[in-house]
Amino acid sequence: MTDAVRVLLAEDEESFVDALVVGLGHEGFDVVVARDGVEALQLFERTAPDLVLLDLMLPRMSGIDVCRSIRGRSNVPIIMVTAKGTEIDTVVALEMGADDYVTKPYRLRELVARMRAVLRRIPGEPPSAGPGSRGAGDTHAVSAGGEVRVDFDQRRVFVRDQEVQLRRKEFELLSILVENAGRVLTRDVLIDRVWGADYIGDTKTLDVHIKRLRSRIEVDPSSPVLITTVRGVGYRFETPR
Ligand code: CA
Repeated sequence: MTDAVRVLLAEDEESFVDALVVGLGHEGFDVVVARDGVEALQLFERTAPDLVLLDLMLPRMSGIDVCRSIRGRSNVPIIMVTAKGTEIDTVVALEMGADDYVTKPYRLRELVARMRAVLRRIPGEPPSAGPGSRGAGDTHAVSAGGEVRVDFDQRRVFVRDQEVQLRRKEFELLSILVENAGRVLTRDVLIDRVWGADYIGDTKTLDVHIKRLRSRIEVDPSSPVLITTVRGVGYRFETPR
């Protein structure tokens, strides 16, 4: 396939770059990375991307200024990536001509959905993302840290590039946590989503499954950093800071 969608990713946070290069690659996108605003403009000229993913806070030149500059010469779809609490900047970015925005931390699937949506909006030939052997419904998610990758379709899990075998409920539990990375999920929500009506009231079942999951994905299961406990509330799959 020669018509993969080329994405210019302007991002200076290494953890996001790593996760996105892998995750978007799996989705069939061809990713070019710029580490600051000046490089973003240079690579924009050199690579003529189909879409720009633009972090708001970039070294050397802000995402807003990059956006303004690109808009002066191109209608390429631009998605701004903003941090929490920067609503004003988000408004400015949209005024500068960004097509959409996502707020960190975001889920890969949410980002890809927005990317496909803005790509569909451009008139003319819509570039098709994804290798030909894959269907449009394929979904992959990558934890923002890149340590854990969940292939939802094939129900496979890779931890630090090694495949790990999970039982069915463990997989479902991990999937829900990864899909909601960065957010606390209450015990009730997790129990309801994973066990639903099958749950027979043993309050320890969830904790036992969390413990097993940690033993399979954490470097040191006794001091977990991927799945953390939020005391009195529930659990959270951590995104890197
Ligand atoms: Ca940044």
